[in-house]
Amino acid sequence: MSDLEFEPVIGIDLGTTNSVVATVLDGVPRVIQNRSGQLLTPSIVAVAKNGRRLVGQIAKRQAVTNPDSTVFAAKRLIGRRWGSREVEDARKVLPYDLVAGPEGNDVRIRMGDRVWPVAEISGLILAELKADAEAFFGRQVTRAVVTVPAYFNDGQRQATKDAGRIAGLDVARIINEPTSAALAYGFGKCVEKKVVVFDLGGGTFDVSILDIGQSVYDVVGVGGDTYLGGEDFDRRVMDWLTFSFAKEKGGVDLRRDKMALQRLKDASEKAKCDLSGVAVAGIHLPFLIGGGEGCPALHLEKQLQREKLEELTKDLVDRCIQVVDRTLRDVGVRPSQIDDVILVGGMTRMPSVQKAVRDFFGREPSRGVHPEEVVALGAAIQAHALTHRKGSTEVLLLDVTPQNLGILVVGGYFQTIIPRNTTVPTSQMHVFTTSQDNQTSVRIAVLQGASDKAIENELLGEFVLAGIRPAIRGEVGIEVNFDISADGIVSVSARDMVTGQCQSITVTATSGLTEDELKRIMDENVDELLARKQLVSDFERRREATEKIIGEIEALVPAVTAALARSRFGKDAVNKAQAMVQRVQAAIRAQDGDQLGTLEEQLDRTLQLFKGLSGGAPEERGP
Ligand code: AMP
Repeated sequence: MSDLEFEPVIGIDLGTTNSVVATVLDGVPRVIQNRSGQLLTPSIVAVAKNGRRLVGQIAKRQAVTNPDSTVFAAKRLIGRRWGSREVEDARKVLPYDLVAGPEGNDVRIRMGDRVWPVAEISGLILAELKADAEAFFGRQVTRAVVTVPAYFNDGQRQATKDAGRIAGLDVARIINEPTSAALAYGFGKCVEKKVVVFDLGGGTFDVSILDIGQSVYDVVGVGGDTYLGGEDFDRRVMDWLTFSFAKEKGGVDLRRDKMALQRLKDASEKAKCDLSGVAVAGIHLPFLIGGGEGCPALHLEKQLQREKLEELTKDLVDRCIQVVDRTLRDVGVRPSQIDDVILVGGMTRMPSVQKAVRDFFGREPSRGVHPEEVVALGAAIQAHALTHRKGSTEVLLLDVTPQNLGILVVGGYFQTIIPRNTTVPTSQMHVFTTSQDNQTSVRIAVLQGASDKAIENELLGEFVLAGIRPAIRGEVGIEVNFDISADGIVSVSARDMVTGQCQSITVTATSGLTEDELKRIMDENVDELLARKQLVSDFERRREATEKIIGEIEALVPAVTAALARSRFGKDAVNKAQAMVQRVQAAIRAQDGDQLGTLEEQLDRTLQLFKGLSGGAPEERGP
């Protein structure tokens, strides 16, 4: 049966730095180009000075001039609690402002003249990818599989699902990025292997150990650090540049100037990427700071050697290897038992990362997959398998829960109910009792994490089981049931075993969005999407019209140049017209509909003038 008899489904790798959308077409997984013809879409959202929302490359391009209202790396914040260590760390380094949500527990971002839930920002990126897929298929796309780092906890998964809903997507499944990469690696092959997926992206590090065989992908262990990625490497370069600059320029602190910082960030990332291919990278940032009254403009000129970059980031690479070591030990697997190591994520292009992996495993990592595309391809394979069910595309994914799940018990301790690395979906039951005489209610606080102390773990949500029969402490049995779905999302229920009194929650608290808030955002986005579609079609109409005029003008240039050869203003007129043509072409490249609109009329006048001139009636007036 042809794929197009089904509604198309897509797989999305919603990355910290870049996102990718893919599909399976006629049995072949492939990445879908975005409407600008690129395979990677920067995970960047902005509100421009004129109030327009921008997503992807177009948002990235204006980041330097609009740092306050350009949001990157939102994935680092999604599903995080306000006040958590990660959020506090992010606040110190991000150029945009973070604020607490209305209930004080989730994180929101100030962008433009509004405060945005993080899930809404990610939703805008997903909506952009959805629109790219729709342009590719020429029809509506509503179903998707979205990937998340294996180490994401319940709150982060739930918030990612919310982002999908905001984008108008039915997220059929959330799957783990390394598992997704393994799916793409094993697709169409008949392999029986134990593999490690080493996934170092822009913001997170993930490692998974899988047994692959006969279309079954059995994850035996996962580990990771959701706060270790390419951005940390970039920051090391930035800090080094800031420090050297201050030393050379009499203490001038670049961190004071947001625009300078943004340029520094871009240049640091670029130098890091360049150094994967060359031994020395030049960093040139003219007019970086100053230039006002009484303070001369200062330029940054620096060379960064690959060795220096490796020295600056050695501890980060070591941290990755420590996580790999711990994950293998956890499940009792030795490095020598691994048949293949799959490198995923742009950061694995860095030679010192590859070397560390090679040294640890004593083997060359696999080169068969494209590190930036493989996760989206795997998600597309899973989306396809979920839709088609039968036939050669059938795959069985046996994923695991990345962190211990449990509840708070007396004394502030954490009681694990479902240990990490348990295959999901799963459900487990545990019987608790009252800790005081005549206690008629218990508070169940659900937590996820690695510590024995409840306070050090992530609180996912809490609820109260009331109406318990009064009795001596320890006499009443309370049955607590934990469920983890195939998406890794948690629900918990508690029941008094005598009265049958029952309470349950799907732990949704950390996404930070109430159902009402979600619905309101979804309604707003429908309006925004319609407006965007209108803008895109206006832009396309203008582009076609202006490109036609440009063609005509360019064809007339030789005749006009000849006709004006004797004129005093001739050369000037042709130069001005050519400059205008270049401006129009730049506006087309930048997809700037507003600019194009203003230039369209002038361009048209130039054409009329040129037509007159080439017809032999000289006129000494420039366009
Ligand atoms: P991903 O999340 O997989 O898109 O990975 C993005 C991260 O990979 C960013 O931090 C990039 O700077 C980094 N990256 C991309 N290409 C390279 C490269 N050639 N060398 C080093 N890092 C890279």
